[in-house]
Amino acid sequence: HVGRLEVITGPMFSGKSEELIRRLKRAKIAKQRVACFKPDIDLRYHRTAIASHSEQTHDAAVVTPTSERLKATLFENDHIHEVDVIGIDEVQFFDEAVIPLVMELVHLGKRVILGGLDTTFANEPFGPVPNLMALADEVTKLSAVCMVCGNPAIHTQRLGQSQELVVVGAAGLYEARCREHFQPFIDEN
Ligand code: ADP
Repeated sequence: HVGRLEVITGPMFSGKSEELIRRLKRAKIAKQRVACFKPDIDLRYHRTAIASHSEQTHDAAVVTPTSERLKATLFENDHIHEVDVIGIDEVQFFDEAVIPLVMELVHLGKRVILGGLDTTFANEPFGPVPNLMALADEVTKLSAVCMVCGNPAIHTQRLGQSQELVVVGAAGLYEARCREHFQPFIDEN
């Protein structure tokens, strides 16, 4: 049988990791065999797990974000045949070759669930995500809460030096913003 591709997208803080973790946990309850990956770029929260900003976690293998590395990890020791559901978080950091790899997994009968940003802080399409959305059986686009006005936020605002005073008390480098309050970050260097 053929599998299925699900993409969970939206800006930072929209709950993509939470939703991915929720789906993977439910798959496990249904006795599905789950494998989960994230790129080694984002090790802020957890080294061996997908972690959400609300501190929910799910064990994950951390891989260098090349599709070649991911493919090698999936197919080594025939690991792939012992897995029903494959989750990948932060899929925007993988190269374009992740697209045929994901479709190969779907054609092998796997349920593939991806989490990733659809746009960058400059509001450009982010890596392979828009293409994967186009190929998916189901796309879930989540919104966050705008840190300026509280309305639904679809953008990720980068807080640069020059903007540091715009939002008082802003912790960290990024925050969610609605269409009205989003100002694409322009790197002047
Ligand atoms: P994502 O993977 O999309 O970055 P996470 O699943 O890691 O999102 O985190 C979602 C959680 O982040 C929310 O449940 C909430 O606790 C927290 N959070 C922090 N800032 C915001 C915000 N501006 N809007 C919505 N949730 C936020």
